[in-house]
Amino acid sequence: MSGFDEAVDFVVVGSGGGSMCAGLLMHTLGKKVLILEKTALIGGTTARSGGVMWIPNNRFMKRDGVADSFEQATQYLDALMGQQTDAPGSTPERRRTYLTEAPRMVDFLMSQGVKLNRISYWPDYYDDLPGGSEPGRTVVAELFNVNELGEWKQKLQPTFIRAPVDLLQPSLEEMMELPALTRSWRVKALLAKLVVRGILAKITGKHWIAGGGALQGRMLQAAVKAGIEIRTESSVSELIVESGAVKGVLATRNGRPWRVEARSGVLVNAGGFARNQRMRDQYAPGTSVKWTMATSGDTGEMIEEMMRLGAAVAQMDERVGNQQTHPPGAADGEAKPTAQALTASPHAILVDRSGVRYMNEGGSYMAYCKAMLERNKTVPAVPSWAIFDSQFMAKYWLAGTMPGKAKPEHWYEQGYLKKADSIEALAQQLQIEPATLKSTVERFNGFVARNRDEDFHRGERAYDRWLGDSLNKPSETLGTINQGPFYAVPIVPGDVGTYGGVVTDEHARVLRTDGSVIPGLYATGVSTASVMGRFYPGAGSSVGPSFVWGYVAAKHAGGVK
Ligand SMILES: Cc1cc2nc3c(=O)[nH]c(=O)nc-3n(C[C@H](O)[C@H](O)[C@H](O)COP(=O)(O)OP(=O)(O)OC[C@H]3O[C@@H](n4cnc5c(N)ncnc54)[C@H](O)[C@@H]3O)c2cc1C
Repeated sequence: MSGFDEAVDFVVVGSGGGSMCAGLLMHTLGKKVLILEKTALIGGTTARSGGVMWIPNNRFMKRDGVADSFEQATQYLDALMGQQTDAPGSTPERRRTYLTEAPRMVDFLMSQGVKLNRISYWPDYYDDLPGGSEPGRTVVAELFNVNELGEWKQKLQPTFIRAPVDLLQPSLEEMMELPALTRSWRVKALLAKLVVRGILAKITGKHWIAGGGALQGRMLQAAVKAGIEIRTESSVSELIVESGAVKGVLATRNGRPWRVEARSGVLVNAGGFARNQRMRDQYAPGTSVKWTMATSGDTGEMIEEMMRLGAAVAQMDERVGNQQTHPPGAADGEAKPTAQALTASPHAILVDRSGVRYMNEGGSYMAYCKAMLERNKTVPAVPSWAIFDSQFMAKYWLAGTMPGKAKPEHWYEQGYLKKADSIEALAQQLQIEPATLKSTVERFNGFVARNRDEDFHRGERAYDRWLGDSLNKPSETLGTINQGPFYAVPIVPGDVGTYGGVVTDEHARVLRTDGSVIPGLYATGVSTASVMGRFYPGAGSSVGPSFVWGYVAAKHAGGVK
């Protein structure tokens, strides 16, 4: 072939979850890999994320004696997704491939020196379905001393897992415990451990990072060690096709056009379109770029480029929802205060703009935000109101602030945080019919008294209870709203990324609308229509598939049987 500036075996577009995993596998096969990243930072939203991967039947569960199997996980996914329509990313064949390859992918990474482990307790999001698991199927990277990356450290996309104090460098699991600090001696002991670890790190010149930062940091370390080339500020704008097959990419190098030949194929791992309002308006109307925590590179052009080649797209209206509350100014930055557990905590509920409760507030973030948008079609519900009382204020974090009644004065002045001595007075501030809100709250308080949410079954799943407060008894998630003053903040259906894209087969090959394969073109991550279809089965249902399909693509492109 002529006209190329450079030739390699495998090009990966974007440095997302699957990129370095695919690169490492290709490297073991003796193939030359080039990863092209548009931004100045490596790791994508994956590095920013919690870095949790949903990997049923993984080696760590076996090590810990936790029962799981391919059959059990298949039963779960089939029970959850069996009836869904219009989700071609989630065929039974792809689901089975995912469940087969996911534990193998973990074994492969461990063999490459990438240290992983599991979080022991994190229920599946529909743990009450057949095959659902209460113990964690969640795999994460071990804490990583990012200083080991040397000069590459500056190039790693920072993670969102940061304690309020720099000295503390908690793991994701530890971070999730910290909110109970004021109420639990166990958590106070944990804090002491973190302080000691932090001091030791300072003395020994270590900087521990967790979550997606640790995951992509460890991947980057392994990739650099293997000699895989990763080029930043190298945006791909075009897939080069010859004789009907993808043969390479047109990228930029030092600001100039640069054509790279890819002898064994191209893998697109370029994220979704969370930061593209035009595509949102087309595929997910009513959602906003202002409410996403995806990284800046998540602009969707590679999905459109694959469509130009005839790729089918599906599930484009799906997003990984993330309910958020935005105090004044908070919507401007990239990291937004999540409200993931706010209304699943005791003493809190979510109501629409008419003052009516309309969901199990303990559901998965994806289901929660979908429910908000769905409700909004009939009753104004974007934003909805979180309603809570002084018991909540005393015990739980609110929009990144510690428990306690002292909140920034400008929150009240600018109308973000509403406060009133009675539910009726609060309703008036929210322009809700007072009798309606009063009756909603009284009905909820009745459910609390009977420890049974007769309307939405909040608390009947282990997941709902896990999301609540383990110290609250008898229910971890139900608690009365009856001690004034009463409060409200708005909640919006934000997201951490989109969840639809090109349709791929069980080898991660991109398919045309007629079901035929586009030769030489593979895709993974949220550039694709998720194997999880229209559901989020458990924590890590986005990063897990990104890694697994990257691994699967590399196996196919490298000719591994
Ligand atoms: C705070 C937060 C926490 C989260 N926690 C979790 C979690 O624990 N588990 C989970 O499963 N999900 C989580 N998510 C969601 C998850 O992080 C993302 O859905 C997932 O990481 C997407 O991965 P990806 O591999 O598809 O793409 P990404 O990791 O986003 O990588 C795509 C990369 O491609 C680059 N790119 C884009 N276009 C081009 C181009 N034209 N040329 C070259 N490069 C390009 C981008 O700049 C980006 O670096 C979280 C998200 C956030 C924000």
